[in-house]
Amino acid sequence: MSQIPPVDLGRQYATIAEAANAAVLEVLSSGRYIGGSSVTEFENHFAQYHQVEYSAGCNSGTDALYLALKALGVTAGDEVITSTFTFIATAEAICMCGATPVFVDITTETFNLDLDQVEAVITPRTKAVIPVHLFGQPVDMTRLGAIAQKHGLYIVEDCAQATGAKWGDRLVGSLGDIGCFSFFPTKNLGGCGDGGAITTHRRDLYEAIKMLREHGSKIRYQHEVMGVNSRLDALQAVILDIKLRHLDQWNQQRQAIAKNYDFLLSDVPGIQRPQAIPGGTHVWNQYTLLLKAKERDTLRQELLAQDIITMVYYPKPLHLQPVFEDLGYQSGQFPLAEQCSHQVLSLPMFPGLTPSEQERVVAALKEQLTV
Ligand SMILES: *Cc1c(COP(=O)(O)O)cnc(C)c1O
Repeated sequence: MSQIPPVDLGRQYATIAEAANAAVLEVLSSGRYIGGSSVTEFENHFAQYHQVEYSAGCNSGTDALYLALKALGVTAGDEVITSTFTFIATAEAICMCGATPVFVDITTETFNLDLDQVEAVITPRTKAVIPVHLFGQPVDMTRLGAIAQKHGLYIVEDCAQATGAKWGDRLVGSLGDIGCFSFFPTKNLGGCGDGGAITTHRRDLYEAIKMLREHGSKIRYQHEVMGVNSRLDALQAVILDIKLRHLDQWNQQRQAIAKNYDFLLSDVPGIQRPQAIPGGTHVWNQYTLLLKAKERDTLRQELLAQDIITMVYYPKPLHLQPVFEDLGYQSGQFPLAEQCSHQVLSLPMFPGLTPSEQERVVAALKEQLTV
């Protein structure tokens, strides 16, 4: 039996190979590899797609978060609230600005930050909050927006796993002050290497980010502020521009795959299926179960023995990471995130995953969970 991988990017590439190859060859022969019209064209299309005024490309999703916080003036002594159940980059970007991450627990229904807990950790030093639309599920931005407005906090959306997701009728990345995106290959809109972008309605933030990503300069060799080198390559931009045209269709495929998993798993005991909360449009970067009855790592091994590869996002919440030891968080402080770190299991999920592969995954799960 052939292996079922967690993600197969080759299948997606096959559907755009001709266009992608032609675009890449055109860049190669143009000799224009950094900047140029292919990057601005993609940025314009990305902004239009999100119905925002501005978008700026950069090196990675991590950099997008850093540039966003920096442009908002987040600095040493400031606090930024975010979920403890996310990829390290979310908190890293806060620390790169010299500020302190302040973690909150999640809900097990959404895997997203628990909005009931946000207000309790706001202090006079709190400058911003970073909602992470984890696994493709949007945070309730109506509620978070009201909290942020009441306390005068900026909202920087971490959209790395949720390109194309919506809260109400608006895309994530258009709902806060700045949206931050990753084009890491496995994201919903992924390039063929690293890349990222920000989106914003605000011209001043856009201008600030363009300056920061270009060594702090607007005019070449004149440096206004301490910046970084963080650009989106022309090669990535042309590939992303082609893929952007397919994004909605690929997200619809992810939704159909999720629906089919829901159906196939409906009589499997000992699991909680992921739930899409009302009001949002989930784009399923991951289809993540919560195992109630069986030891996760044993189950993973049993699936692996049948050539089915599953993933764990994330095995350790951020408040328990060694790097954040100095922040003084305790084990047991965020019980739901800690529970999830032991019980989550992400099933294979990518456009092009076939119904028969899904059936094989679920049959193997069923066999292990009903013994
Ligand atoms: C992938 C990811 C990032 C970072 O993106 P990179 O492009 O890999 O730097 C940030 N936040 C979340 C939630 C992510 O999943």
